[in-house]
Amino acid sequence: MPEMLEVEEYRRLAARTLGRTIRAVHAPDAWFLKGGLTAGAVSDALLGRSFTADRRIGKLLLLDVAGGPSLGLRFGMTGRLLVDGQAAIDRLEYSSDRNDPKWDRFGVDFDDGGAMRMRDPRRLGGVELDPDEHRLGVDAAAIGGAGLRDVLAGSEAPLKARLLDQARVAGIGNLLADEMLWRAGLDPARPAGSLSPAEVRRLHRHLRATLDELGARGGSHMGDLQDMRGQDGICPRDGTPLSRRTVGGRTTYSCPKHQR
Ligand SMILES: [Zn+2]
Repeated sequence: MPEMLEVEEYRRLAARTLGRTIRAVHAPDAWFLKGGLTAGAVSDALLGRSFTADRRIGKLLLLDVAGGPSLGLRFGMTGRLLVDGQAAIDRLEYSSDRNDPKWDRFGVDFDDGGAMRMRDPRRLGGVELDPDEHRLGVDAAAIGGAGLRDVLAGSEAPLKARLLDQARVAGIGNLLADEMLWRAGLDPARPAGSLSPAEVRRLHRHLRATLDELGARGGSHMGDLQDMRGQDGICPRDGTPLSRRTVGGRTTYSCPKHQR
């Protein structure tokens, strides 16, 4: 599922669309248009114009339109981006039955013959004009130690739930949260506000390292914990059987021995 590392790959791919004139807009799925948007309105906003900038906040990809609004793209659980027929991420988890043009929910054609498409089997993503960027917290790749401290301070919510709260810190999804908490040796269910200053610093260090390393490896599913998500998983560090719980509404794997 696309977390911020995947959407960052999509952003790099989307950079290829900048400056190209849009000659057609495909919006066949009204469900996929969010915030009251209609096919006619998105066509009016994009036709004859071009994208001037690619941006990302958390899991939200933004393409600014020359003389117009920003196009916000969300990828949900199964969304992917294709530009000129090429995907940013082509891996096994996107099996062939997930790679069918009939899943194209939105797209534009350029006057040079190329195209951009959003392909989303489960339709949990969407497209919006001028999405409210202020509803998102600071991007996880940009958050500093003091920022992370402020996100956690005084909160009784489980640590993992706070990290998943996109209004507090944007971009961390289920896999990244479990991986960074496992690396940092912190129990996902602990109250967020209970971390000591040293623990917050440790978490921040592992947050950065997790994003850097998994980004370099190819995505949020490339964590050290990943192969152990499932029945009979054991901690790769100390061999303890992992606990499987629901924390923050999400299936959570953690080590009862070294995550405290
Ligand atoms: Zn362990």
